[in-house]
Amino acid sequence: MADIKSIDNQYVANTYARFPVTIVSGKGSVVCDDTGKEYIDLGSGIAVTSFGIADDAWAAAVEEQLHKVQHMSNLYYTEPCAVLAQMLCEKTGMKKVFFGNSGAEANECAIKVARKYAQDKKGADWYTIVTLKNSFHGRTLTTLAATGQEHYHELFTPLTPGFAHVEAGSMAELEKLAKTTKIAGVLIECVQGEGGVVPLDADYVKALDAFCKANDIVFMVDEVQTGNGRTGSLYAYQQFGVMPDVVTTAKGLAGGLPMGACLMGEKVEKVLGYGDHGSTFGGNPVCAAGAVSILSRIDDALLADVRQKSAYVFETLTGVPGVKGVTGMGLMIGIATEKPAGEVVKKCMEKGVLCLTAKDKVRLLPALNIPMEVLAKAVEVIKNACA
Ligand SMILES: *Cc1c(COP(=O)(O)O)cnc(C)c1O
Repeated sequence: MADIKSIDNQYVANTYARFPVTIVSGKGSVVCDDTGKEYIDLGSGIAVTSFGIADDAWAAAVEEQLHKVQHMSNLYYTEPCAVLAQMLCEKTGMKKVFFGNSGAEANECAIKVARKYAQDKKGADWYTIVTLKNSFHGRTLTTLAATGQEHYHELFTPLTPGFAHVEAGSMAELEKLAKTTKIAGVLIECVQGEGGVVPLDADYVKALDAFCKANDIVFMVDEVQTGNGRTGSLYAYQQFGVMPDVVTTAKGLAGGLPMGACLMGEKVEKVLGYGDHGSTFGGNPVCAAGAVSILSRIDDALLADVRQKSAYVFETLTGVPGVKGVTGMGLMIGIATEKPAGEVVKKCMEKGVLCLTAKDKVRLLPALNIPMEVLAKAVEVIKNACA
């Protein structure tokens, strides 16, 4: 086991700066490394393990499907895929779902939908997708082009053309752009995650929605990180009083299995036809069974709990020594610290708490069902690490 780190360092691509910790097991919000040390997990695999590690109900649903049929091609019907699509539509008012395997793929689908909608209706030169500065939409060449942060673009040019980035909060900038550019779609995160856990202003989001509706532009919300209960509602847009044409989600959707979904509303439900898009693994029955288990448990009681735990973290950490501010929604929380965020994260890890960073902030994305006493213990460690 001592060799794991050196084998990994030798053979796995050098794209990740790993902490010197090998996680071997876990249960709920506690994980265990190869020396037997326990950690409270406030990262959830970056908002993925919605109900924690090896959650019993989730594991049972996944295992049951695993023994029935683990995969079929999309040439045939399978039950979990159909049931999941129905759940997603009934809970959001969306009309159709395309399944992929990641957030980036969900956004790729959204971009295709917006372009095809505009092309069918207005012509082939209506292709520009507008996103916000400081956004993050994925790592494929097209979703990198969508991502409004220059440093992700370097080294990989030329990226997919046809993207423009505007300042979050400025309708004037978008209106000016629309005078010179044929815009197919607008894509936003309601809370910019990788950008530092920055919620958008609600009036701005409403204005974007209205602008898109008035100009027949496809309004798309990237809920890859904010979705599936994370912000205290099933999807974050539901707290902003808007109705997007397209919603993308992934990360926490299947509770730890790779799955992404692009939800299409009434305006665009018929845009994709036979042969227009596809994915070999998309809608995989095991992943879909996991997602059905997760979604069926994100009810009003759980969401109220998420909001209550969120309020606890905000109240406990706001104004304490070493903390400059707390941002976010629900259990998607950013902490601006006086010390470098990386230093705080390292100190927390030594004390048995796993946190993330986002830009210059400490970021918390605990499991939605983290027990209150476990959360309280971890927050105390963070508080001490910040001071
Ligand atoms: C993580 C993330 C993505 C990319 O998801 P992958 O599954 O890594 O492709 C896209 N958008 C947002 C908002 C994200 O947080």
